Amino acid sequence: MDYPDFPEMQELMICADSISPVGEVREEALVRYRHQDFPILSFRFGSTDPSAPTLLFVAGVHGLEKIGTHVVTSFLKSFIRLAQWDHTLIHLLETCRILFYPLVNPIGMLLNSRANGHGVDLMRNAPIDAEERTLPLVGGHRIGNWLPWYRGELDRPMELEAMTLCDFVRREVFPSRTSLILDVHSGFGLVDRVWFPYASSHRYYPNAPRILALKKLLDQSYPHHVYIIEPQHHAYTTHGDLWDYLSLEHQAAHLPGTMIPLTMEMGSWHWVKKNPKQLFSSFGIFNPVLPHRIKRAERRHFFLFDFLVKAIASGDRWAELQGQKQIFLEKKSRQLWYSPQR
Ligand SMILES: [Zn+2]
Repeated sequence: MDYPDFPEMQELMICADSISPVGEVREEALVRYRHQDFPILSFRFGSTDPSAPTLLFVAGVHGLEKIGTHVVTSFLKSFIRLAQWDHTLIHLLETCRILFYPLVNPIGMLLNSRANGHGVDLMRNAPIDAEERTLPLVGGHRIGNWLPWYRGELDRPMELEAMTLCDFVRREVFPSRTSLILDVHSGFGLVDRVWFPYASSHRYYPNAPRILALKKLLDQSYPHHVYIIEPQHHAYTTHGDLWDYLSLEHQAAHLPGTMIPLTMEMGSWHWVKKNPKQLFSSFGIFNPVLPHRIKRAERRHFFLFDFLVKAIASGDRWAELQGQKQIFLEKKSRQLWYSPQR
């Protein structure tokens, strides 16, 4: 299929056409808009063992935040090339799985809308309520789909896009003994943030010691990295977060593996500050408009993506914690992220 008026989908089609034989593409679902169907695609590289360490890149949950899909698709294109010749990567893929899900919400992206085609914010759509007070509207609401951050109707099934992503994670990520997910967004702010659960409560996240171990590796290896790593509730709490929902399901099922979903929120004010005209377009607030800034966003974040690829192959260094190390990191993570004085 050709999508001449939809450059993001067109780029994914190019990836789909060029991925064989180093990886596989799969159509997870079709979403329909005005008599045209748009595929939701996943791309898979590496081991066929479902319990193998697994890294998943996700983007395009919010259709307006196109830069996330651009950066992840661009990384996917490089990855397809590298997987053809880079012995280090080929060797890594014998024991690990690397997955891409670059466009969760095709209709939203087509329409330059945060929500999906039904006006539902997919990151507020899971059947889970916040335990703490949320910001009015932003935290998710059921007033109506004419307002942003709409959760969808009470007791209705999840939207197709949200359900499809959850089914994909259950099938491809839940069986893994160690998994990381990076869901790429852009939003207000000057800094780039990496959030971990929970979005729905201030409770202690049981994988916080592992995240602290991973953060230490990042801090030591790339001391000038730009990311603030913190639980999402430091920014705001929300209803209906898909990663909270999946994390709680994973915990309740007592699966033997560790699954850590991370959300990257690229600070968009860099782009607005440097190009104030962008303030007058809703698209511009969430995306760099000038091509050299898009390239810069790619360069800025690719090293983190590479770091995560290395980290998933070295889970013994951060995921498999025991004894004194576990106790120490739990104490430190509580001080760093959960103490009232932080
Ligand atoms: Zn977003």
